[in-house]
Amino acid sequence: MFSLESKQRAELWKQIAEAIETYNEQVDALPVDACVHPSEVRSFLSAINFEKPWSPTGAIDFAVEGMRRFHVHNANPRYFGLFVPPAAAMGIAGDMLTSAFNLVLGGWALSPFGVELEQRLISEFAAKFGYPPEDFDGIFTAGGTEANHTALLCALTVLSPAIKDEGLASFGSQPLIYTSKETHHSILKVAMLCGLGKSAVREIEVNHKFEMIPDLLEAAISNDRAAGKCPCMVVATAGTTNAGAIDPLDRIAEIARRNSVWFHADAAWGGAAVLVPELHDLLHGISAADSITFDVHKWMSVPMTAGIFLTRHRDVLEKTFNVSGPYMPAVGKDAAIDPFRHSMQWSRPCRGLKVLLSLAVGGWQGYEQTLRRQIEMGNYLRDKLRRGSWKIVNDTPLPVVCFQDATNPEGQTQEFLGGIVRHALASGRVWISLAKLAGRENAIRACITHFSTQKKDVDELMEVLEAARSDVAQATDKGRTTVNP
Ligand SMILES: *Cc1c(COP(=O)(O)O)cnc(C)c1O
Repeated sequence: MFSLESKQRAELWKQIAEAIETYNEQVDALPVDACVHPSEVRSFLSAINFEKPWSPTGAIDFAVEGMRRFHVHNANPRYFGLFVPPAAAMGIAGDMLTSAFNLVLGGWALSPFGVELEQRLISEFAAKFGYPPEDFDGIFTAGGTEANHTALLCALTVLSPAIKDEGLASFGSQPLIYTSKETHHSILKVAMLCGLGKSAVREIEVNHKFEMIPDLLEAAISNDRAAGKCPCMVVATAGTTNAGAIDPLDRIAEIARRNSVWFHADAAWGGAAVLVPELHDLLHGISAADSITFDVHKWMSVPMTAGIFLTRHRDVLEKTFNVSGPYMPAVGKDAAIDPFRHSMQWSRPCRGLKVLLSLAVGGWQGYEQTLRRQIEMGNYLRDKLRRGSWKIVNDTPLPVVCFQDATNPEGQTQEFLGGIVRHALASGRVWISLAKLAGRENAIRACITHFSTQKKDVDELMEVLEAARSDVAQATDKGRTTVNP
């Protein structure tokens, strides 16, 4: 039952390959958004009955149909959404092979190839971020959230090694985390997960570009120290989720060093800028970070998920995570890189094969060209928006644009902009979202996440936006006349 007959298997692989190709051919024409009520999806799923098993081909057809109908199609080049790119072909191949060989990387001895290939990738990425070849360590993670969680655990352990035995009681007072108002929500989550609580997170105010203001960071750390509190970690974001803002890494590095707090750079999506020479300077200072979060599944378009945690301290991961248990393999041939001694996971998939294959075939140069094209599309969109009387409210060279309507007095309100987003999604032609920057500025957010988005896709987005704006403006006018006749 589990392995199927060889003929059935051959049919299954063929059916899957065909379904993938058909999807690739049709996805441009599918409605990008999944405008659907939960009851519709649940009723579709109710066709499955585990008491009456299906044929393999029937089950695959069902799954493909479900994904086609009830899924936001990030593989459509007019998906301008959160950083969820389509999966590149070599990445899909890597994922399939990883599953087929069931590469499990708890310890080195379980999969020397899997562990070594991930280590090779870790050292390649460490070098790209400017870490010295003799002093770094790193690990693949489930994503940016686990990488940020790992950073906090490392920072806590360095500050108080006794935490491993005594827990938070080893700290005299609540350890504190400093980050900006535009930080990713995962920072709040990891503060909760580590038992610090959300009140341990100091969200520093941002400037007009939505970047952390370093003087306010320094003042906050001094005030907390003076009050007997325990500053532990500063998180700078290199490419905020909303606006693509890059906190001033050099200044923050220096403040962190002077105050002896761990400096973590969350470069989950923006980190890929190090692969493009003309963007490299944007991340100047990142090599001074004690640790870095980077998601390969974001701008580098490997299938979900592949995060990376990097640190410039060779021994810190082992100090933070190493424990032993009776069923764990004896120290491997190279104990230094047994993944379970270096991270919170035990059973873990190989996340590196899909990255290795993507890079082996695309090369750094292929990525550089693709990212550059996406930057150009971002600039093209900015340009069109300006000429179409939209007001751009963020300021970043990264391909994410946040904008308001400059033609209507209501053009900055959540209601008006939300109306435009709803109209745009209902058209099925594009996917965009509504953002609130620094808790005060409403904007429509459009991000070039797809490696194949072209000018004609941006042109179509502009058409949809114009139509949506005029519909919403008319409705707003009507609303006004009815309210004040
Ligand atoms: C996406 C993102 C994260 C979270 O990463 P996941 O892989 O979704 O867990 C953290 N920080 C930033 C800046 C991000 O863009």
